[in-house]
Amino acid sequence: MSATTFDPPARCWAEIDLGVLRANARAAQEAAGRDVGLMAVVKANAYGHGLETVSRALDGFVTFFGVANAQEAARLSAAGIRSRIYLLGASYPDERESIVRGRWTPCLSSLEEARAFSSLSMTLLPSGETLPVHLAADTGMGRGGFLPEALLAALPELLSLPGLDIEGLGSHLPSPDEDREFTISQNALFAALVASSRQAGADLQHIHLANSAGLLDYECDVCTLARPGLALYGVSPLPEYSRLLQPVLALKARVILTRTLPAGHGISYGRTTVLQRPTPVATIAIGYGDGYPRHLSGRDAHVLIRGERCPVLGRVTMDQIMVDTTPAGGSVQTGDEAVLIGSQGSEIITAEEIARKADTIPWEIFTRITQRVERQTLEASGETA
Ligand SMILES: *Cc1c(COP(=O)(O)O)cnc(C)c1O
Repeated sequence: MSATTFDPPARCWAEIDLGVLRANARAAQEAAGRDVGLMAVVKANAYGHGLETVSRALDGFVTFFGVANAQEAARLSAAGIRSRIYLLGASYPDERESIVRGRWTPCLSSLEEARAFSSLSMTLLPSGETLPVHLAADTGMGRGGFLPEALLAALPELLSLPGLDIEGLGSHLPSPDEDREFTISQNALFAALVASSRQAGADLQHIHLANSAGLLDYECDVCTLARPGLALYGVSPLPEYSRLLQPVLALKARVILTRTLPAGHGISYGRTTVLQRPTPVATIAIGYGDGYPRHLSGRDAHVLIRGERCPVLGRVTMDQIMVDTTPAGGSVQTGDEAVLIGSQGSEIITAEEIARKADTIPWEIFTRITQRVERQTLEASGETA
């Protein structure tokens, strides 16, 4: 019955180290504080690291997984994840039924949303069962949530809606890595809002404000949860905390061709690079179609081969890049491993370096790694979270 399957070797792949992921989760938890649990943010395919793989590795250690939409929540449910599933932003009307049926936890930004979830919960859930929900407060992000005064004004009605259990309150920090003064005042506003909501009768079990930069660099006395994303994957938004974390992902590709090209020969589209001398050039099986940014063209980007930094020549193409292998000596061969992000020998290329040279942020570098890049999981040295 079964067709012959053929499993070609990967030309380009990402290695995901789950032992390192768990160590980062422990570090994030310690940084957040003793009585603070984690909502591990796994939206956008766990920042490109693989939603199911990452979530299984952290399941049970974290209280919630934070996702962006109902599709991601459904994938977690289908994977048999036991930690709770939380939707980080406003859900749109057509998603609500699946959220209620899935027993996922939405956050509410308006009375309209709250009323809709209340009536869905009353019709879809067995009598006596309520849907746990969190309130979102907009304390400065401008993306979702009740404005503080509107939240307090809405609370009496929110608390009276049948079928809902308002068990949490969250807010989001727009600039913990850019504006200390604003973030401190936002923290104070959030704490006041938690206190007023409790005074108004809300029985809040889950209070959360901090993303990675927030949990690393600020105290949140009222918080019971932190919501790290980037830190879990081993990158600190603030360089001074980098030592607490280790990169989980390495991006690698094969050398598929090596040649020595003559002086005067152009390299890649537009011939933006013309060789000044005879040069050993390796063609590597990765391009912007894999998520290696085309913006790295002409930006002093490097690739590690044989433990040496080899400069990228000319423009990044869709499927291939060319590098000058002079630093690696004369022995580079087809099949050699090239490291685009990660370490080799004593050299390292970080996601931050790639992001800086491509004029973007590490979050985007991770999430743009495409499906064509095979994810390979490393289960390190029997570590458990
Ligand atoms: C993405 C996101 C996070 C995680 O942010 P990091 O900076 O990656 O830690 C936390 N909270 C919310 C609401 C988010 O959307």
